Amino acid sequence: MSLFGGIECGGTSFVCAIGSGPTDIVSETRFATTTPTETLATAVDFFRSKGSSHTISAVGIASFGPVDLDRSSATYGYITTTPKPGWDGVDVAGYVSRELALPVGWDTDVNATALAEHRWGHAVGLDTFVYITVGTGIGGGALLEGRPMHGLVHPEMGHMRVPRDPNDGYPGCCPYHGDCLEGLACGPAIRQRWDTLPEELPDDHPAWELEARYLAAGLANIVFTLSPRRIVIGGGVMRRSVLLPLVRQGLLAQLANYVQASALVDDIESYVVQPALGDRAGVLGAIALAERL
Ligand code: ZN
Repeated sequence: MSLFGGIECGGTSFVCAIGSGPTDIVSETRFATTTPTETLATAVDFFRSKGSSHTISAVGIASFGPVDLDRSSATYGYITTTPKPGWDGVDVAGYVSRELALPVGWDTDVNATALAEHRWGHAVGLDTFVYITVGTGIGGGALLEGRPMHGLVHPEMGHMRVPRDPNDGYPGCCPYHGDCLEGLACGPAIRQRWDTLPEELPDDHPAWELEARYLAAGLANIVFTLSPRRIVIGGGVMRRSVLLPLVRQGLLAQLANYVQASALVDDIESYVVQPALGDRAGVLGAIALAERL
């Protein structure tokens, strides 16, 4: 069986793995994201050090963004306008491909995670679906007819606009837009609005109903725009178990019976689901990118 390399580039840590799927990871490492030079060299060294025992045929990279996915662009494979210090304009895919002399697959972390859920997780057989993560930020990846959605750049679903709750005086924390979806509903927004760590808010705190309302508004926009067959929603904030049922009910309320699809209206528990792949989803997405080359 062919083995592939996967690199998940996160803002706080990198994960590198060698394998062919969730039940076949033969080697894996995680290390802190520091400077681009040091971090990318550590990633390349991991694959070199395993080269004698495991031959890999391609590497996939799932990266925080924004990233350049346009193959005709001079900066294809670069991280572009990230606010993360030092990482603006870094050639990630080109560096890894040159150093390892291997073909490299390249996409956003959320598109890659969507691909992994499609390959091995809760979206097997669904060619059009959306993956959303709600954590320190909010991001979304989409598979449309089996392909990760690109376009002008790539979707930035976390930054869509949603109606503000009239009783919510919190201005939002997005440095670009203030009260976009991410600005109103990411983990840091919950902490700032209520001046408490989200994990310390009790289940019956009004924070969760407000959170669900904002997320449901975001999901309704996604349903109206992309018509996904399923929405997989994960990330640290979604680990709060009271939230998912509230989001499902909120989505039905916001759609207001306009979208008449049985998979949604008759089975909302199967329409909005948690991811299957857990903490390994990102690096598995990277492996799935390599597998598709
Ligand atoms: Zn924003």
